[in-house]
Parts: sequence; C-alpha cells; structure tokens
Amino acid sequence: MKPEIKTITCPKCGAKQEFTLHKSINASNEELRSKFLDGSLTTLVCSNCGFSGVVEYPILYHDLNEKFSIFFQPDSTEREVKLPNVLPAHLLPDIRMRLVHTQDEMREKIYIFRDKLDDRIVEVVKDSILREMEAKKEKLIPDALFYAQDAFACEGRSLVFVPHLGTEYLDPIKIPFDTYEKISMMMHGIWERPVTGYTVVDKEWIRV
Ligand SMILES: [Zn+2]
Repeated sequence: MKPEIKTITCPKCGAKQEFTLHKSINASNEELRSKFLDGSLTTLVCSNCGFSGVVEYPILYHDLNEKFSIFFQPDSTEREVKLPNVLPAHLLPDIRMRLVHTQDEMREKIYIFRDKLDDRIVEVVKDSILREMEAKKEKLIPDALFYAQDAFACEGRSLVFVPHLGTEYLDPIKIPFDTYEKISMMMHGIWERPVTGYTVVDKEWIRV
C-alpha cells in the first residue's frame, strides 16, 4: 500500500495543509517504525498556528521477522476482521494477527512482540494486577494498563506497565518476570484455537 497524501484543515485556525497517511508500515522500515512509535507519524502539526493533533486512520503494521501483523481500525468495536490477501497464504499459520482500536493498543502489541512475550499471557497478568489493586482498595484504580518494557535492574527482571486513568498516564508499575512465567505455565495449551482473521486479544478475549 502506497502512502496517501490528504489535505487536512487545521481544527484551530482553519489553515489547509498536506499530510501523508502511511496506511501500511513494515517493521523493516526503521524510520517509519520509530516515527509511529514516538507518535510523530500520526501527529499533524499546523505550519500556520502550531496546533498539534493526532490523525486517526486505519493502519496495517507487519513484522514478518517477529511473525506478527496488527491492524489498527479506529472508530470501531469489531472483535475480528478478515483482510483477504494482505499476507501470503503460506505464512498465515505462523503469523499472529491482531486487531486494535487505538494507537496505544497498537504500540503495546508492538512492544509485547518485540520483547518476545505472549500477548495472551500479558492480558492475564494485567487482569491479575487490576484485581489485586481492587482487592486492596487502592485509591487510584487504572482503567487500563499498557505493557511498556522488559526491564533488567539490580532487583532482577521485571515487566513494566503504564497505567492509564481517564486521560492521564500514572506512574509505571513493575511486576517481577516470575509472575509472567508462573501464569504462562498455568495457561499452557488452553488457547489453541484456529486463527481466521485479525482478532482483538484483550481482557475480554482471555475470558472466553
Ligand atoms: Zn492551525
């Protein structure tokens, strides 16, 4: 898919400006990949008044080395979509195909697969963190957690999550890597379902 150039009107001052929509990103293109991850690829900065805002449009992200493909579909609540012919048929059985509805979710999936983790297990880990916070009646209960990185420090290996509450991001939460491994052992083999399309794998998916 070739990039598409669109004329966008600044919501603040009304100036018109051209903006490039990269509807397909291949992870081997390091420049596009890092611009998507830092947000600049999808941020319009008005050359007239300096206003900046995120531009939302469907994006397909492929990483065939790490064997995953993610479809970002904004303004949708679909749980599964089929995109025929976007990947060679012989590769399909090995590719994890995921559907997401926000750019934060897309970045999270990219970080999870970059760190060679299983996003299904990560969802169970997030669910258990939130349940524990609720059980402890903590003051701030996030409405979502986003996986950010696999960190090594003097206290050992841990997984770092960024909590999201309302429109804010709270201080990161660290979970020992052991927790992930224990859950991974418990869940072993329970989810072997055939993949038929791009699927949302989130807290709802793991309950089915
Ligand atoms: Zn403007």
